[in-house]
Amino acid sequence: MVDFTLTEEQERLRELVRKFAQREIAPVAAELDREQRFSQEIVDKYYETGLLHGVVPEEYGGGGLSSLEGCIAAEELGAVCGGVASYLGANSLGLTPFLIAGSPELKKELLPKHCAGPSLAAFCLTEAEAGSDVASMRSTAKRVGDEYVINGTKQFITNGGVASLYSVFASEQPELRHKGISCFMVPAKTPGVSHGKKEDKMGQRAADTREVIFQDVRVPARFRLGEGLDGFKIAMMTLDESRAGVGAAAVGIARAALEAAVTYAKERKQFGKPLAQQQAIQFMLADMAMKVEAARLLVWRAAHLHDQGLRNTKESAIAKCFAGDTAMQVTTDAVQVLGGYGYMKDYPLEKYMRDAKLHQIYEGTNQIQRLVIANELLR
Ligand SMILES: Cc1cc2nc3c(=O)[nH]c(=O)nc-3n(C[C@H](O)[C@H](O)[C@H](O)COP(=O)(O)OP(=O)(O)OC[C@H]3O[C@@H](n4cnc5c(N)ncnc54)[C@H](O)[C@@H]3O)c2cc1C
Repeated sequence: MVDFTLTEEQERLRELVRKFAQREIAPVAAELDREQRFSQEIVDKYYETGLLHGVVPEEYGGGGLSSLEGCIAAEELGAVCGGVASYLGANSLGLTPFLIAGSPELKKELLPKHCAGPSLAAFCLTEAEAGSDVASMRSTAKRVGDEYVINGTKQFITNGGVASLYSVFASEQPELRHKGISCFMVPAKTPGVSHGKKEDKMGQRAADTREVIFQDVRVPARFRLGEGLDGFKIAMMTLDESRAGVGAAAVGIARAALEAAVTYAKERKQFGKPLAQQQAIQFMLADMAMKVEAARLLVWRAAHLHDQGLRNTKESAIAKCFAGDTAMQVTTDAVQVLGGYGYMKDYPLEKYMRDAKLHQIYEGTNQIQRLVIANELLR
């Protein structure tokens, strides 16, 4: 039996996040984009809703949301500002390796503190020489007595300069490539942690994206997750889990662009009648709607599989890739429906288009998603 109906509780969640996004994010979204400004105030207010640490189980002070519920929230945030959705979502991404592979003792030590306030986490995997090719990472971790000493520079890290807790991937045995990587939790205040300059981005400009530098950073040995040398596996499991949520934010951007295009097409008159009465425009809107609906169902399926405790590597890659491509296509078509006005900053369409582009790049590019899907098909 397949049931696409949300429960009353899930509908309430959707309404709560929709209202929050309209009230707290919509009025400042264009300004944050223009000024490339991160807003801690939004984090503070989202924390008050109880949803900021939704990914964390209640026993550790979090919201205990399911993956599907996380997607419902992410779509609503994405529909109002892709950049804010990205930095609130990056908190979940940064915590997910810990939730997957942290010991119960370490979780009790670090998570309640993190969840007791509007703190953010960040996921530190990418490096200058290691983007799609994670195994080429140069960051190292060496065991010295009861500690690990971490050295390396992580690049393009969302929340890089504003997080208080990092999940950091570093190699204990570089010659083993992906089999030599481990994952560590590193509080941002640890001596030796610093940040590079904030990246000047095309879109999702509200998010703070930068280098995070680890220079002789010492963490207790118990801050290493899992068994050690299993960091690559932890990273891949994290991405399996997070890709549905990223896809959901992309669905949100696409949905917002479609709604704006529909509204405009009904109002704008050319050749004596509204654009909406031109079949060429109607067909564009119909194609956009089909893609948005299909993307949402793929996202929900990937999340649902995860909530059932089932492997979703292929499904989450399909969802992320299809939703990201959909966001790019739908926002581009929405700009087209508005014609010259779509290209101007007076309307939010050009921002949607810039924000959408990142969904084809981060959390594994959409080429890499296709590789993952093909590998799963050909196993
Ligand atoms: C704004 C932003 C925020 C980010 N946030 C984070 C974060 O929070 N944490 C984090 O760890 N990382 C983050 N990233 C990094 C992101 O995940 C990487 O940029 C991405 O994985 C691609 O790596 P790359 O940029 O080095 O591109 P490359 O790997 O150099 O790829 C360049 C191009 O080649 C293609 N390509 C590469 N290899 C193959 C292949 N085998 N087959 C086919 N095509 C291929 C890619 O698809 C891409 O089109 C962020 C990136 C951006 C831009």
